Amino acid sequence: MSDHRVIWLQPRCYEEAGEDRHWCQDDQGPCEDCGMPSVKYILASQHEAEIAKLREQLGKAKSALFRIMDLAEAPASEGLLDEIQRITEVALSDEKNT
Ligand SMILES: [Zn+2]
Repeated sequence: MSDHRVIWLQPRCYEEAGEDRHWCQDDQGPCEDCGMPSVKYILASQHEAEIAKLREQLGKAKSALFRIMDLAEAPASEGLLDEIQRITEVALSDEKNT
């Protein structure tokens, strides 16, 4: 059996409901009853790269937020909401491309 880079454990609510939680190589999605997500585990050797990726995404989200806050201090204008929408879409598309 090869090492999986990522493996998933069923949501914690399964245990609270008295059921065993099972591991799966694919995300089975959130609990159908309460929406609690599965827990993602990554191989220890992938940890640093994963943290770096999350830090980069956080940095992009922070800069998008600061730009939106700058706009919020500007006088309200017709184009303000469009600009906030555009900044948000750019931040989200960057996130998808990483
Ligand atoms: Zn549940």
